[in-house]
Amino acid sequence: MSDITNNLTSILQSLPAEVTLVAVSKTHPSEAIIEAYETGHRIFGENKVQELAKKYEDLPKDIKWHMIGHLQRNKVKYIVPFVELIHGVDSFKLLREIDKQAGKINRKQPCLLQIHIAKESSKFGLDRNELFEILNAVSEKSLPNVKIKGLMGMATFTQDKHVIRSEFRYLKTLFDESLAFLSGSDKDNFTVLSMGMSGDYPIAIEEGSTMVRIGSGIFGSRT
Ligand SMILES: *Cc1c(COP(=O)(O)O)cnc(C)c1O
Repeated sequence: MSDITNNLTSILQSLPAEVTLVAVSKTHPSEAIIEAYETGHRIFGENKVQELAKKYEDLPKDIKWHMIGHLQRNKVKYIVPFVELIHGVDSFKLLREIDKQAGKINRKQPCLLQIHIAKESSKFGLDRNELFEILNAVSEKSLPNVKIKGLMGMATFTQDKHVIRSEFRYLKTLFDESLAFLSGSDKDNFTVLSMGMSGDYPIAIEEGSTMVRIGSGIFGSRT
């Protein structure tokens, strides 16, 4: 077996059944994705619109593509026709643009709200107030063409496991608060807590993650 097949198989075996794996294929060629695809895996994540759109064109149409990176408003229209889940909704303006573009093609676009949980200011995301501003708009049904599926966050890049754990724990408390705030179908839709990457996913799972985004742990390091 190749490294990719081996890595993917052993990670999948180690994940609890209720945790979904997004195989993060950014920067890796289509051949690497095909290898993972041939093991039966179908969920892949990319962080650049152009690369995502190209791979969508080139690769089998039953792949479920997740946009995990920072998304610029002027590029939303290129991915909304096919993307399964947008993880990085980090502003109300961006969400309004997704709602507008999805409306044009009669889609209801699944999205996650990205929360800023890390110490680094370089990372994107909403704070608690912005989160509830959006959830309020959702509950008033003012964004009819998006489906808010949950939250996403990235922990600080550090060796300090206590810092990582406390950031994930904070994200889980916001997830639970959001669930308590929402009702009806909005609450039913809210099932995804996307947290955990190659270096920290076991901690994320202990803290309640339902979706991990793993790149280098499957495909090797990026150059
Ligand atoms: C690149 C990336 C990942 C995967 O990172 P690895 O450390 O390679 O597992 C996960 N989430 C986001 C948002 C990313 O940009």
